[in-house]
Amino acid sequence: MTYPDTRLFIAGTWEDAADGRSLPVRNPATGQEIGRVAHAGPADLDRALDAAQSGFAIWRDMTAAQRSRIMRKAAGLMRERAEAIAALMTQEQGKPLAEAKGEAMAAADIIEWFAEEGFRIYGRLVPHRANLAVRQMVVKDPVGPVAAFTPWNFPINQVVRKIAAGLASGCSLIVKAPEETPASPAALIRAFQDAGLPEGVLGLVFGDPAEISDYLIRSPIIRKITFTGSTPVGKLLAGLAGQYMKRVSMELGGHAPVIICEDADVPLAVRSLGGSKFRNAGQVCISPTRFLVHRSVEQEFGQAMAELANGLKVGDGLAEGTQMGPLANPRRLAAMAEFQRDAVDKGARVLAGGQRIGEVGNFWQPTVLADVPLEARLFNDEPFGPVAGIRGFDRLEEAIDEANRLSFGLAGYAFTRSLANADLLARRVEVGMMWINTPAAGSAELPFGGIKDSGYGTEGGPEALDSYLNTRAVVVANI
Ligand code: NAD
Repeated sequence: MTYPDTRLFIAGTWEDAADGRSLPVRNPATGQEIGRVAHAGPADLDRALDAAQSGFAIWRDMTAAQRSRIMRKAAGLMRERAEAIAALMTQEQGKPLAEAKGEAMAAADIIEWFAEEGFRIYGRLVPHRANLAVRQMVVKDPVGPVAAFTPWNFPINQVVRKIAAGLASGCSLIVKAPEETPASPAALIRAFQDAGLPEGVLGLVFGDPAEISDYLIRSPIIRKITFTGSTPVGKLLAGLAGQYMKRVSMELGGHAPVIICEDADVPLAVRSLGGSKFRNAGQVCISPTRFLVHRSVEQEFGQAMAELANGLKVGDGLAEGTQMGPLANPRRLAAMAEFQRDAVDKGARVLAGGQRIGEVGNFWQPTVLADVPLEARLFNDEPFGPVAGIRGFDRLEEAIDEANRLSFGLAGYAFTRSLANADLLARRVEVGMMWINTPAAGSAELPFGGIKDSGYGTEGGPEALDSYLNTRAVVVANI
C-alpha cells in the first residue's frame, strides 16, 4: 500500500520546507517509517502568513453563495476519495479502516452543513431611540486570518471542524496539522484546492508545534487562534494569545464520567459504552473514562464490559475484521503501562486486559479495571487509551459529586430509566456535552466543546460561526 510524503501547502502550491528539513512518519501498527513530512521554518511561516493575508482579502469579499459552492464541491470530493483517504489515515494513525472512512465521509457532512449555515450569518437593524432616520446596524464580518492547531487522534475531523466554520465565516486559515498523521489532513486541504478555493485562503504547515504556535500567535496578521489538544498546552497557547489580544477557541482534554444508575438498562449501557470506550483505542477527547456504577448493578456491568473487551479483535487497522487498532504513538503505550501499574498498586482489580500485545507496534489490550481508588492516576489524569475504570456508588448525589470533582468538563454519560434522575443528571453534571441512554454521536449542527478546564468556544452548531466573526455597530444618519 502506498503512502506519500507530505509537503507544506503555501499560497496554493505544495512545497518542501525552504531549508529542506523533514520528519519521519511511522505506522503505529509496525513502527516502520512510511514517509516524511516537511518541517516548516520561519521563512515558510512568513510566506504562509503573507498568503493568508492576501487570501483573506479575496475570500472576505466573496458572497456566501460563492463560498458555499466551493465548499460543497470540496465535500463531494471528500466523499469520492473517502476510501483512498481512509487508507492513508489508517497507515499513519492506526484506527480501523472503517473508522477512518467514516471520518472522511463525516468531514463531507460537516463541510456541507457549514456551507449552508454561511448563508445565515445575519446582522440586524436596531431602531434608534430618538430619530427613526438614523439606521443602527449590527453587522457581522470575519475576524481575519486564523491559526488552527490540531492533534493526531482524528487527523481530519479535528481540522475540518475549524476549516468549515472558518471558511463559512469568510476567514482564511493556516492549519498546523499533526506531524504524526500528516497525509490525511493534507488530502482534506487538497479537496479544497481542487474545488477551486482561491490561493492563500488555506495554508497547511507542519514542524515543531511549540515553535510554530509561538510564531503564528505573535504575528499581527493572525487575528484568531483555535486549538484542539491537551489542557496544559491549551492553557499555554491561550495565555500567549491573551498577551497579543487574539481571539481564542479551545477544545481541550476531558475525563468523561459515566453514571450507571440502579434502574439503568445495563445491556444497553454496555453496548453503547463499549463502542464509545474502545473506538479509536480510547484516544478520543469525549471517550467515557470514569465509570461510576450503582452497587446493585456493579458486578453485572463489570462482567459484561470485561466480556465485551475480551471479545474485541485487536490488530492492524488495515486487516479485515479489526475492531481496535494500535495506539497512535509510543507515548500512549508508555502512558497505559503507567496508568495500569499505578491503579493496580493502589488496589484496582483487573477484569480484562491490562497488558501490551506483542513487541511490534503500539498495541494495548482493551482493559477493564474494577474498584479503582479515587487517588489512582486513572481517575485523575485523562487516560486517552483503551482503559475503562469502574467504581461503585450508593447514592446518586455521590456519583454526581465525583463526576464534578475534576476540573475537566467536556463529555458525560448516564444510563437510567427514571425521568427524574435524567433531569437531575442533565442539570447537575458539569460538562459541555451530556448523553443519556445513548452513545455519543457528534454532528455538525450540535455544539461540540467543553466547559471548565476542557476549554471554551464550541465547534458545532451556529454558535461555532460566532467565534470566527466580529460583531460591529454601524450607525448611518439619513441627511
Ligand atoms: P501533547 O500535549 O504534547 O500534544 C497534544 C497536541 O498538542 C499535539 O497535537 C501536539 O502537536 C500539540 N502541541 C503540543 N505542544 C504544542 C504547542 N506548544 N503549540 C501548539 N501545539 C502543541 O501530548 P500528546 O502526547 O500528543 O497527546 C497526549 C495528550 O493530549 C492526551 O493525553 C490528551 O490529553 C491530549 N489530546 C487531546 C486531544 C483532544 O481531542 N482534545 C487530542 C489529542 C491529544
